[in-house]
Formats: sequence, C-alpha cells, structure tokens
Amino acid sequence: MFFLGCHLSSSGGYVAMGETALSIRASTFQYFTRNPRGGSARPLDLEDMAAFNEFARRHGIGTIVAHAPYTLNLCSNKPEVREFARMTMRDDLERLQHIDHVVYNFHPGSHVGQGADEGIAMIVDALNEVLTEEIKTPVLLETMAGKGSEIGRSFGELARIIDGVHLKEKMGVCMDSCHMNDAGYDVVNGLDGLIEAFDREVGLERVKAFHLNDSMNSFGSAKDRHAKIGEGEIGLEAIVRIINHPKLRHLPFNLETPNELDGYAREIQLLRSRRTGG
Ligand code: FE
Ligand code: FE
Ligand code: ZN
Repeated sequence: MFFLGCHLSSSGGYVAMGETALSIRASTFQYFTRNPRGGSARPLDLEDMAAFNEFARRHGIGTIVAHAPYTLNLCSNKPEVREFARMTMRDDLERLQHIDHVVYNFHPGSHVGQGADEGIAMIVDALNEVLTEEIKTPVLLETMAGKGSEIGRSFGELARIIDGVHLKEKMGVCMDSCHMNDAGYDVVNGLDGLIEAFDREVGLERVKAFHLNDSMNSFGSAKDRHAKIGEGEIGLEAIVRIINHPKLRHLPFNLETPNELDGYAREIQLLRSRRTGG
C-alpha cells in the first residue's frame, strides 16, 4: 500500500478530512491539532472520531499524522511557555486516544539562549512528565532544519532526546526532506548514506512518518522554506527515490508543500504515477 497524503485543514472534523483526502486520491493526511500558532482545540467530538475510525477502515486510509502547533516549545526559557506546551501536549494526546491509527508529531523546540544541552534536558523532562503508560499514540520528533536555535537539526540531537525518555517505546521520528536538506543531510545524492547514519544514531525503526517537501534553499542552509515538488533544490527525482526506497516505502508520506487542494491533488497524482510496485 502507498500511503500518500497532504496537510489538510481540520476545521470540518475528522470525517470531513477523510472525505477531502479521498477526493484528491490521498490515502492518509496530516492536520494541526489546534491553531498552528497556539490557542484552543476544537470541541471534542467523540462521534466524529468514532465515525472516522470506521471511515478509515472502510476506505483503507493509513495512519494519519496529528501535528502539534508550531508555537509549542518545551524548551522555552519562560516557565509559563513550557508549562503551556506540556498542557497542550497532554490534552492533544488525551484526545488522540480516541483515534485508532494516528501518530503525534511535534517540533522538539527552540532553546532561547540557554544552549542545546539545556534545551534537550528540558524537552526530556517534559516528555517524562507528559508520557504515561496509557498513552497509545506514538510521539514523534520531527527532523528540523536548524533555523535559529532549533533543536533536532541533527540525528544525534534526536537520539539524545529519545535516550533520556523513560517510555522510549512511545517515541519515534518524522523525517522531513526539506528540513534534512536544509540541515545538511544529503537527501539528493546520498539517501542510502543518510538512512545508514540515521539507523546507526537513532535506529531506523523509530521512523514512523515522512514529510515530503522540496526546498527553496540550498543544502545545509539551515533555512526551512518548503517548495513545491520538483520546483526546489531537491527535485522530483530525489523525492521519487524516497517514496520507492525499500526502507522507507511503507511509511505514511505527507506533502507540506505551498499548495491549495488542487495543487496537492496534482502532486499526489504525479507521485502515484512514479511509485513502483504498488
Ligand atoms: Fe512540522
Ligand atoms: Fe515538516
Ligand atoms: Zn518546515
């Protein structure tokens, strides 16, 4: 199965997202758990969630990705910002208990002058407080571009976070092709080497989702600006190698390219036409 989708608006609820996904031939999707710049979540709609579980089963929708808001920063230097991030994460994970096949992805955070070591320690501390045995949703760290003081620009930083978490079995990673390119991982000419390095440093079995984005910026630029597939520095052929790679091809792939729905539909069609072996 090819699980390919894109980022969708969550304003109509889960079944509505599922229907939108099908309308553009997507077999998975991603959405923000709440306003990406923070704020409150939609009211909890258990009926919609149960209906979506059934809908996903019936239509073969693969594991979906719930993305935490960008403003969530577990390693801010302000205690109230850190506490808000923990509360948000706890609430998101509690809600996700009602969805059968979902992973929760978040940006590890940006330290605010206190340095990466202190930042990583704060993230670990927060995860150890928020994660409980009962939580069934895998929690993914996204590979980051390294813009500003972002944590997670290297596989080593992700490994250090996971190492510090007591309930490691709950932890995973979401790779982002734009971010890895911008962080200086060679997704264009060195995909096998990148996968080997990740496996050595983190363990490939931790990868649970993939963001497919081209990049407006060059290799190692530490910038993070997504481009449409084939219109950036990564290029279509490198993206095609990712979706067909024997060690990655089972993952849910989501586009986060600068597109409206019709643009996503075209990219999905393009990538479906380049997928080998079903
Ligand atoms: Fe992200
Ligand atoms: Fe991403
Ligand atoms: Zn990005």
